[in-house]
Amino acid sequence: MHNAALTAVGLADWRYQRLPVPPQLFDETVRGLPALGFLGANVTIPHKAAALALADDASGAAREIGAANTLTFGADGRIAAENTDGPGLVDLLGEDVRGRRALVLGAGGSARAAVWALTRAGAGDVAVWNRTAERAIELASAFGVRAVDAAEEADVLVNCTSVGLTDADPPNPEIPDSDAGFRDDPDIRLERSATQDCALNHYGLTFDQVGEYAHVVDLVYRPGATPLLAAARAHGARTLDGLSILVAQGALSFELWTGRPAPRAEMERAARSEQPG
Ligand code: NAP
Repeated sequence: MHNAALTAVGLADWRYQRLPVPPQLFDETVRGLPALGFLGANVTIPHKAAALALADDASGAAREIGAANTLTFGADGRIAAENTDGPGLVDLLGEDVRGRRALVLGAGGSARAAVWALTRAGAGDVAVWNRTAERAIELASAFGVRAVDAAEEADVLVNCTSVGLTDADPPNPEIPDSDAGFRDDPDIRLERSATQDCALNHYGLTFDQVGEYAHVVDLVYRPGATPLLAAARAHGARTLDGLSILVAQGALSFELWTGRPAPRAEMERAARSEQPG
């Protein structure tokens, strides 16, 4: 995605490359990058908090979210931290969530960025549900929103758990699959599968309940639709997928490093072409 963007704006001698870094070597690796000619870096799990801690300067978004996904190396040797996950999501949500009720599933790093983004985008009410309830309570109190102990009604549903990343999640026996009886109902014409039901069960949602959300966002990206987005689309909801969110945060990082407008369509095309499904 980034290399396609660099080529598209005529920076053909720039490269974006993957550097797997063990946590214990994170600081010394990052501090060594400017000398090797790097102008910046995207940082992902598990390094986002460490990236913020290491930086000399941090944006308001990075400080408020408590994590950085983008580092920029200044000519003066200073390292600046930014979080483009939250602002990227704000760009995509636009006016769609203003005054609306939002439910965030998950309480990890991306949930923090999503709660920040929903609040910024003017959501009228934000609730957080998480499998480990204490983490939802902690996140909600940090951002002044509500923690809920079950998925509740809302206009916008945002999945920030890693559920749906693979088909391998076994059902969660703690959460009953309350519309399992519908599986054999010949009158049900909506598309559904056992895999889909199984993934939805991890957030305590049933296939039918997904239909109650008008707008469904899934941060998870994988080939084809995630089980949540497949269910939402079957119900006719508006959906936003994880790849669009990936492109939005990537475009903001690109603009920070290059000072040029990101060629978003080119980035999206390149990102989608890497997805086989
Ligand atoms: P994280 O900090 O590790 O948090 C993972 C979250 O998923 C936690 O809330 C965890 O709940 C929950 N979870 C994991 N397995 C679960 C299960 N079987 N049932 C219910 N909940 C479960 O990860 P993250 O950084 O927030 O990322 C979450 C997902 O978003 C990942 O798939 C990641 O790839 C994706 N993501 C996408 C973008 C994008 O640009 N599209 C950006 C960031 C992240 P517990 O607290 O109970 O463990």
